Amino acid sequence: MAEKANPFEEMKKMVDKAGKTLGLDAGTIEVMKSPKRELHVHFPVKMDDGTTKVFNGYRVQHNDARGPFKGGIRYHPQVDIDEVRALSSWMTWKTATVDIPLGGAKGGIICDPKKMSVGEIERMTRRYASEISIIIGPEKDIPAPDVNTGGKEMAWIMDTFSTLKGYNCPGVITGKPRELGGSLGRPEATSRGLVFSVREAAKRTGMNLKGATVAIQGYGNVGAFAHKLIERDFGSKVIAVSDSQGGIVNEKGLKYDDVWAHKVKTGSVKNFPGSKPISNEDILELKVDVLLPCALENVITKDNAGRIKAKISGEGANGPTTFEADAIMWKNGVLVLPDILANAGGVTVSYFEWVQNNYNYYWTEEEVNQRLDHKITVAFKDVWDMHEKYKCNMRDAAYLLAVKRVADAAKLRGL
Ligand code: GLU
Repeated sequence: MAEKANPFEEMKKMVDKAGKTLGLDAGTIEVMKSPKRELHVHFPVKMDDGTTKVFNGYRVQHNDARGPFKGGIRYHPQVDIDEVRALSSWMTWKTATVDIPLGGAKGGIICDPKKMSVGEIERMTRRYASEISIIIGPEKDIPAPDVNTGGKEMAWIMDTFSTLKGYNCPGVITGKPRELGGSLGRPEATSRGLVFSVREAAKRTGMNLKGATVAIQGYGNVGAFAHKLIERDFGSKVIAVSDSQGGIVNEKGLKYDDVWAHKVKTGSVKNFPGSKPISNEDILELKVDVLLPCALENVITKDNAGRIKAKISGEGANGPTTFEADAIMWKNGVLVLPDILANAGGVTVSYFEWVQNNYNYYWTEEEVNQRLDHKITVAFKDVWDMHEKYKCNMRDAAYLLAVKRVADAAKLRGL
């Protein structure tokens, strides 16, 4: 049975380690670890059967030393306060790693949207939006999509917030539909950033991505678009994918268009014609060149880390690898591209969306993608340079970079 690591404690270990290497004093390290503000909300929602249900949700604002708080909102039965705290701090480190002038926050509601109607989800979303409206805003804290949320939810939150204010506030949230001020390129941005990171890693390790084998755990927004982009743009061969219901493998390769059409039709990648079934655990241990964990946190632990055979593991998910697992993979020569770098494409284009909203002037998709490429390429180089300088793994390197940037900003502002 795999250990269940507490992601907030995992984050604190990383910051302690980086803080010590950087020579930060104990007080500064404590500031870096502590969320600045936490809002717990308990709110009623009218369900379709006429009953009333009270939902519990959070919005945690970790750090805004470098700019307004920023981070997504997830809907999941396993949401808990420590998870949201960890996720909010990972946003702080992520925005600092890619050097965008934003801080870190995260929100979540404990719910199972897969068992709710669209109407119930809309009423829950609007009520949550009005509860957290006291701390969010275009200059304060800008939410975005995360697990099980997307353009539809962002539109409802934007509308609820704008209604409360009495005017249109597109800059309160990112990941909106294009018609409401969403940015071109935002839906694929996390995956695009992920494949740019893999490209940079392949360049430095002499891996040819054309024909390279890939396994993807998670087939939501991030995993599915990663399949599409790595196959289309680099000619890599995706041999296994999975979603919450199970996985599929075919050594000859799985074509994105066909797998996606099957998922849309049946609701899962499972039973894709010509494939063999594989579990969500086994997919991680396949002998592939590139592994992309794109589902949830804590899937690679000290129990299975020694069995990971991929040469590169690019983290599309937040927190898929535990602290101890990381050390094992580093020792075994697996190059882990940490979440705060590898999946930062989403928040980077969220930042571009927010800039476009504030200017009320919109860019072409090509401009968005080029600017994203530039941001990720520079961030990758910054992290790689740290990794060489300190002879440490890429996660330690990214934390050194990010914690230093945030601590420098905090110090300049003073207490
Ligand atoms: N939820 C995404 C993440 O974890 C995106 C956050 C955002 O765009 O603000 O990075």
